[in-house]
Amino acid sequence: MEEKLSKLEEEIKNLNPDEQKQKLNEFMQTLNPEELNQIKQSQCVFCLIAQNKAQAKKVYEDDKFLGILDIRPANPGHVILFPKNHINFLSNLNEKDISDIFNIANKIGINLVEKLKAEGVNILVSSGLAAGQKLDHIAIHIIPRFKDDKISFEWQPKEINEEDLERIKNLIKVEEVKEEVKKIKKEKIDVENRIP
Ligand SMILES: [Zn+2]
Repeated sequence: MEEKLSKLEEEIKNLNPDEQKQKLNEFMQTLNPEELNQIKQSQCVFCLIAQNKAQAKKVYEDDKFLGILDIRPANPGHVILFPKNHINFLSNLNEKDISDIFNIANKIGINLVEKLKAEGVNILVSSGLAAGQKLDHIAIHIIPRFKDDKISFEWQPKEINEEDLERIKNLIKVEEVKEEVKKIKKEKIDVENRIP
């Protein structure tokens, strides 16, 4: 990959910006998904921090996740928690990782309350551009809150009728997770009822 890149650099260095852009586009077309991901990672600030190529104040680290202090915090103590792998959307994390990352976020939140004397915590995920996701690497924001801190997540409520509420409810209803929960409960009961 590095060889390919230095060859490209050599090829385009004497071209004008328009020609450079075109060459670059042509080059991107020749890459396979693995190589494209490598390029994305080399430009992603979260990936650079995860690979220790950029500095950050780490408040949590394990083999899969990293929590760092936001250097432009909503409030002091604002933590950004993300997977070390370059994963773009929350829905692309596997179920175990989703459960782990929220567990870690919750523990960080508890520390914000206990150690920083936060009076409340927002745990915020923006998945997708329309939701305000700024980078191509999913992250959870854990924000300590204080009374009258002037941070606002408020919105203007929209009008909606009963018919639309019912239609949307049926459309987005999630069955599988419920089944899973039922299964877990049942297993528990079975174990409890087992005669030794
Ligand atoms: Zn990344």
